[in-house]
Parts: sequence; C-alpha cells; structure tokens
Amino acid sequence: MTTKVILSFVVSALLLGCSPTNQDKPTTTTEPVSASETPTTVQAIKSDKDYHSYGNPDEVKVTNLALDLTVDFADKMLKGSVELDFERIKPDAKALVLDTRALNILNVSAAGKTLNYTLAEADGVLGSALTIELPATGNKVKVEYQTSPEASGVQWLTPAQTAGKKQPFLFTQAQAIHARSFIPLQDSPQVRVTYQATIRTPKELLAVMSAANDPDTARDGEYEFAMPQPIPSYLIALAVGDLHFKAMGERTGVYAESYILDAAAAEFEDTESMLIATEKTFGPYSWDRYDLLILPPSFPFGGMENPRLSFITPTVIAGDKSLVSLIAHELAHSWSGNTVTNATWRDLWLNEGFTTYLTYRIMEMVYGEKRFAMEAVLGRQDLQADIDSLPADDQIMAIDLRGRDPDAVFSNIPYEKGALFLRELEQKVGRAAFDEFLLGYFQHFAFQSITTDQFEAYLHANLVKQHSDVLSMDRINQWIHAAGVPEGAPVPESDAFTTVDQVRNAWLAGSLAAANIVNDDWTVHQWLYFLNNMPEKLSQAQLTELDAAFGLTASHNNEIAHSWLLISVNNWYEPAFTRLHEYLVSIGRNKLVKPLYKALSQTPEGKKMAQKAFAQAKDGYHPLTVKTNEVFVE
Ligand SMILES: [Zn+2]
Repeated sequence: MTTKVILSFVVSALLLGCSPTNQDKPTTTTEPVSASETPTTVQAIKSDKDYHSYGNPDEVKVTNLALDLTVDFADKMLKGSVELDFERIKPDAKALVLDTRALNILNVSAAGKTLNYTLAEADGVLGSALTIELPATGNKVKVEYQTSPEASGVQWLTPAQTAGKKQPFLFTQAQAIHARSFIPLQDSPQVRVTYQATIRTPKELLAVMSAANDPDTARDGEYEFAMPQPIPSYLIALAVGDLHFKAMGERTGVYAESYILDAAAAEFEDTESMLIATEKTFGPYSWDRYDLLILPPSFPFGGMENPRLSFITPTVIAGDKSLVSLIAHELAHSWSGNTVTNATWRDLWLNEGFTTYLTYRIMEMVYGEKRFAMEAVLGRQDLQADIDSLPADDQIMAIDLRGRDPDAVFSNIPYEKGALFLRELEQKVGRAAFDEFLLGYFQHFAFQSITTDQFEAYLHANLVKQHSDVLSMDRINQWIHAAGVPEGAPVPESDAFTTVDQVRNAWLAGSLAAANIVNDDWTVHQWLYFLNNMPEKLSQAQLTELDAAFGLTASHNNEIAHSWLLISVNNWYEPAFTRLHEYLVSIGRNKLVKPLYKALSQTPEGKKMAQKAFAQAKDGYHPLTVKTNEVFVE
C-alpha cells in the first residue's frame, strides 16, 4: 500500500504523532498483550505467529474461497455466501476458526447440513472469532452472511459522492485486517487462498476484482471472477461502479468513471514501459495482466496493490506525470508483497521496504537518474521526519505490534528505512550482484509468505557469506532490529535541489524578490522541496509575495497545494482558506487531509474551520479517514 507517495515529508512527521486507532484498543483481547501492560513478563515474540488473527491454520487451513455476493446499494450490504475449502493439517482437528468483524452470520453448513458454530464477543481491533464445528468428513463449509453498512473494509458512495454524480460506487480496502469485515475467513497474510466469485450488481454497473478481469465482459449485472494464484486475504478486493475501460498497452489498461478515463490513461501511459523494465531486471511478471482502477477522491490511500488490478487515488493525476512513482510502487508490489508476502504485520517492511527500493529503481530505469536522485532525497527527508518524531520502538523495522492495531504501523519506517537498508546492501556488493540476489530471492520465495527470520537466514546464506568482506550480520541486525538509521548509511543527493536551496536562501535573506525567481523549468519535485523546507514561520508579507508570484493558492497539483495549504494554516494566511475548505471537502486521501486537520486543531479558530469542513465532508470520507481525523475536530 502507499499511505504516502514520496513527495511530502512534512506529512510523515505528523503521520503517527497521534494514533487515533489506539484509542479503541482492545479490552478483551487475550493473546495480544502490549509490553507496557506486562512490564516484568514480556514474552518473546514468536516470529511466525500472527497476533492479529484468530484463525487456526496450523490445525485447519483454508485453501480456496468461492464467493457469491449481491451488492445491495440501498441497504449498503453485501449479501450472500462464501464456500471455504480447507485442509486438515491436524487430522483430529475439531473446529475451523475464522476471523469476522461486524458480520451477520445467517447459516453455516456442509453438504447441505447445518453445522454448529459460535461467534465470540467482538474485540475492538480484531473483531469476532467464528468457530465452526467441523463435519466428520469432507473439506468444504459454506457460510451464509451479510456485511454491515459500517463494515470497516467497504466504502459505499452515493451518486452525489462520486465525481460522475450519476451512479453509486462501492470499493473494498482489506489491508491490513479488514477483509474479515466483508468475508468470514482466516484473515492472516500467512494463509494464501485462490478464489472464485460471482458478483451481482445493478445492471448498469460494472464489477471488477483483484482477479482476472475481462475488459470486454457483457454489462449485465452478473460478473464471474477467478484468481488462480494463491494470495493472502488482504489482497482480495472488489469495486463496483459506472466503470469503463481503456487500454494503455498490450498487458496494461485502466478502469475509471468516464469523466477521468482519458486523463488517467494519458497520465499513466508509461505503465507498460515500467512493467517491461521491471521484468528485465527482477524476473517475469507472474500475474498475466496489470490494470489500474481509478477510485473516487475519497479513497483513503495513494494506492493499493491488489493483484492484477491496483487501486489508485485520482489525486495523482496531475497532467504532467509528476506523481506517477505511485504507479511504479504499486506495480513493484507484484514482485515484493504479492508474490513474496510478509507472513505477519511485524514483517511489513519485507513488503514495503523492498517495494520502495524497487520503486526507486523503476523510476531510474524509466525516467532517468536526475528524477531518481530527487525522489530519493525527498524519501530520505520523509524518513528523517519520522525518526525525529516517533518513539524508539516504532523506529524498528521488525516492529512489535502485539496489542496494537496494525493500521497504526504505517509510518515511513518500513518503507524508506527498508529501502535505505537495501540500498546499502546494493552499494556494498555492487548493483549486479545485488540484482542477482533479488532475482533469486523473488524466485525462491514465490507465492510464499515469509517472516523476517526467514529473510535473515536467506540473506546470510545467499549474500552475506559470499561478501563477508563488506557485509556482516551485526550491521544487518542493527538495521532490522534497532531504532534510527545506522551511522554511515547511504546519503541520497540531488544537484537539482542545490539550486533550489540557493534560491530559497536568497529569497529568505531578502536579496532576491519572488517575482525575479527564474524557475520556469522547475519540476514538481523541486517545487515541493522549495516549499517543504521553508522555515516554520513566514510573515504575511512573505506569504503574499509568494502567492502573487507563483499562484500557489490556485495550484492544481494536489501535492503542491497540500504543502502550500499547510504553510498557510501554520502561518494563518487567510487568503488561502477558501481553497483549504474546498480541498478538505473534495479529497479523502488521508495523507493529504490529515496533516491539515491536525495543524488546524492546534488553535481554537483553526479547530472551528476544521469542524466545519469535517462536518461537510464526513459522509463522503472513507471509514478509515473518518476514524483518523475525528480526533482533531472533537
Ligand atoms: Zn506499498
């Protein structure tokens, strides 16, 4: 997932400053216990135990799902059934335990015969365990159920809440532990399943899934899907809306509402080149087609790497391809994350660190070294902001998440620190040797879910031993298991930013007027670097001068606008506030709105503005965006 693109380091400082998800921490959880609750008897982490699932795959493991769901927009519910195939790992196992959250379970059966089951009391983070008494023989059970309108993994949009305004829209977001809110299943990344689905929708709408999609399918309100490769539950995804398809390349295309279809296809036209470049270095693409789905502006993230069909925010359609590293990121997940998957949420850095590293490599291959260097510097600034603001334990890549909501872990640590670690390995052994290692790693663990321990053992056997003159497990342990960034880590640099620093300094010193700054050739990255590194306090005269010279309040680039609006809030620059309100009520991407709400909440006047915007925008926000930001308007 991309909670952030590489382009705004101001955001990350604020990303985890407050963890609203912790406020509804579990009170009834028995197994996950935070260290702070038991200071004297901290248990060692069992590296292959998933502390965020009630499932019992070590006894009975689900291997396939067959979904049959009707999408009911009037009731805001998915209604139907799932048939689960399972394997009896322990032949004498008596029960199958599934994860659920806020599901209405109607019936459980096997071969037409009703089975006994119990639904445990709900835990605030983990949901309710559904324990099914297994039949003596057979390897299938069927659960009939309905989702609730408040399902944490499903967003229902009325026609008015879409950009097209004519038809409703539905999309799911399962990572980290939200699949259980729309399917009863073993909701752990170490349980991989194939799936088939029949999805029934109003006739005029199209359904798409993280599965084989047929761009030419008849639009008749009944859609069949199959995902033949085993995937973890957090990659199961569904969207339904007034969607249309446009091809971008032989294996790539885009699904979107028609108002934005052509713009999206033009913005992301390099996707096929990215795919080809990545295959050349890191091995064949395993997933047949690679399509993009453009979601309504309320999508809470930048992108989600649902296999074969990445879900993408429309806020990166800038008209100049300046924010397309997001596509490189989601595509890279086809290797790191979707093919080789983190076994538990503690191991998230194996997904995101590798993916962030690959993103830089793809951007370098497709757009050249200059752009790569700028993005790497911005990424390093993102990382530093988190290191400066997070408690030491949260700066550890293999983080202890027991007793915590995994949604709270999405800081830059697994992303940028992970990437910097891999960059160091590359620099020490040379790019050719490191690429060979990565190619072998992706092949060795293809379609497996692995722990940090497994990675370390593999790294030792396949890279450290061969390069013991430059690599040591001590240093690697420091990267993975200690806070901060080890001394002597790679330092990204960009000449393009040196010029920007000179211009900013001259302007701040009063020796260069904004109107005389010659920067027609600046890229969006340079603009962001210019704004994001301004001193905390600027005068009204300075703000007015910048705005007059560069039209920042009116910027159509969502990232530049974000940086400028944040500066405006922090310095109470009122001419930008109408735009600020429009921005907050039209975008639900958490990375872009959360820092603004947080900054507004610091003063009583700001809080009033935040409350007004939030009240107007709330119905259109995703449940995650609501949950994250409501603390700032209370
Ligand atoms: Zn990601």
